[in-house]
Amino acid sequence: MKTDLLSYLVCSDCGKELTLLVKKLDGAEVMEGNLTCAGCARTFPIVGGIPRFVEKDLDPEKQATAAAFGYEWTHYSKLTEADRKEFLAWIAPLTPADFQDQVVLDAGCGKGRHIYLSAQFGARTVIGVDLSDAVEAAFQNTRDLPNVHVVQADILHLPFRDPFTLAYSIGVIHHLPVPSQGFRALASHVQPGGRISTWVYGKEGNQWIELFVDPVRKNVTSRLPRFITRCLCLPPAILLYAGLKLLYAPAKTRPSLKRCLPYSDYLCSISSYTFAENFWNVFDQLVAPTAYYHSQEEVLDWFRTVGVQEVRIERHNGNSWRGTGLMPLH
Ligand SMILES: [Zn+2]
Repeated sequence: MKTDLLSYLVCSDCGKELTLLVKKLDGAEVMEGNLTCAGCARTFPIVGGIPRFVEKDLDPEKQATAAAFGYEWTHYSKLTEADRKEFLAWIAPLTPADFQDQVVLDAGCGKGRHIYLSAQFGARTVIGVDLSDAVEAAFQNTRDLPNVHVVQADILHLPFRDPFTLAYSIGVIHHLPVPSQGFRALASHVQPGGRISTWVYGKEGNQWIELFVDPVRKNVTSRLPRFITRCLCLPPAILLYAGLKLLYAPAKTRPSLKRCLPYSDYLCSISSYTFAENFWNVFDQLVAPTAYYHSQEEVLDWFRTVGVQEVRIERHNGNSWRGTGLMPLH
């Protein structure tokens, strides 16, 4: 943890000031220490360079989801060019220019690929939060960037004082037990006039996943030891990879072929992925204990409920929704 982060932090329980006790420094990073609340006296440890605000009595469902994604991101932590392209597609119509000089919150930062990119796009400060062990990968991937911070915390109990000027949550809210609650929590940390952005699975275009994949995920693969789930992902990942390279990659330049193929918008968009990227995509679909598929109306309702203005909800790749807007000034 860089000491600059302290000016943004408050107690996640009572919102009061925190006092930093440094036990071990490594350059600019506080590697070990404590943050103690002046109000309720609760102490939050800094372990491995990361302040930990994880609830002691975390809901078992949230804990299981965090463990699943923590496993994924600590076993697959390489940043790629595809990450940059995907991120820009998920946050569109935002562009790198929208990050210039912003104070950015990434709620559910995983291995830190988007906080890394946000800093590259010119953000003044970037704070990535994740509930899972993925924070270890995020910390390692971004520790050399002086304006990037990583915090382990729950989106519903964020330990921040000042609202952010840009907050986004990509591919996370649909994994929360009550997704609308997660969106409200995110919005509550954006200052008036600031921007909020999210990307979630769509109900539209994912009927086959809800029908065939979801029951397997819920009842089998999310309950198995991770290593077994990884092995089970191999056959579908090989099939998917073959289909992408043999059919969907050529279809990108042949509209007549693309029209004949199912789910062609999405599958063409991932047809240039490496085998590893595809493999982890399959794993991602099969490992989460909680996953919801949201209709456009539902997503629009989240934005309306917190009074977001200039809302734009757009379909992405035919099977998901990206939404953005500005928090009201009053
Ligand atoms: Zn407190």
